[in-house]
Amino acid sequence: MKKWLTVFCALLLLTGCAREEKTTQEFFAMDTVISLTVWESDAAEEMRLAADILRDLEGRLSVTREDSEVAQLNAAGEAELSDETAALLARALELERQTGGACSPALYTLTSLWGFTAEEPGVPAAEDIEAALASIAAGGVSLEGNRAALEGTALDFGAFAKGYAAQRIAEELGDMPAVLSLGGNVQTVGQKPDGTPWQIGIKDPRDQTRNVGVLSLGEAAVVTSGGYQRYFEEDGVRYIHILDPQTGYPVDNDLASVTIVSADGLLADAYSTALYVMGFDAAVDFWREQSGFEAVFVLEDGAVFATEGLAECFECNKFTVVNR
Ligand code: AMP
Ligand code: MG
Repeated sequence: MKKWLTVFCALLLLTGCAREEKTTQEFFAMDTVISLTVWESDAAEEMRLAADILRDLEGRLSVTREDSEVAQLNAAGEAELSDETAALLARALELERQTGGACSPALYTLTSLWGFTAEEPGVPAAEDIEAALASIAAGGVSLEGNRAALEGTALDFGAFAKGYAAQRIAEELGDMPAVLSLGGNVQTVGQKPDGTPWQIGIKDPRDQTRNVGVLSLGEAAVVTSGGYQRYFEEDGVRYIHILDPQTGYPVDNDLASVTIVSADGLLADAYSTALYVMGFDAAVDFWREQSGFEAVFVLEDGAVFATEGLAECFECNKFTVVNR
């Protein structure tokens, strides 16, 4: 009996060691450095799979690649979309409705004016912003089956694509333990082989070499939107990449960052952008009305808030729990 136990323990130790081996690879796609760590000594297959998904999604969604599905739809005003792109557009439009338009896949007429996806972003003329807002308000997106038509606007999946890509890769990996990191987005897959939770740091918007806190989680999408992630400066003024669809100008409110935790990567990405646009009070109201996600808010003044579902798994020097 004892002997069997010893053999069993030794086996456990061996498999334990094997699962501790991990492989990390970096990719460049969607304008960001993406890193994938898989708990396998030989993860060539998984890396190829991730690279294929990223290449495929870039070929569908990039606004800057002329041959992408979205760029062709934007240029022609209508197109027959692939099943996957049509399904993504349908979900993104649903998330736009849910967030009262705070996050929309159909703002390219506006976002392209600011040029955050271009080499040289800059402040557009006020009348161009007015014209873009009027054109977006008068127009819209129609989607019937896979047939999409645009009126007065164009598509930009910038606020959705990374969360969606992470979700697609996670689905393909099944429960193979892995962590995927895409500029501000983290997707954990499966359970950590040593049985402990995944640890995901939330960056301090004022000093990105530090974390304001750390989340301990199982499989989840953890998506952060913040002005610090992308911006340009002109005449001493900082212009961030998240735009308020009401004003046409970069968001300027009491939030420094919003982190969404959810099982749904696409939702987490859309909501991180949307709640950032809403500002703290409206974002908390939104969380109270909805389900399916939790959030960490870092305010401009440095205060940190976490919704009650994260109270037990968030480690932070000082934070306030937001209750339902
Ligand atoms: P994220 O980093 O997920 O918050 O998304 C920001 C990116 O989405 C920007 O770089 C723009 O391309 C685009 N974007 C900016 N503001 C919005 C908005 N209010 N709704 C949807 N997309 C936006
Ligand atoms: Mg987003």
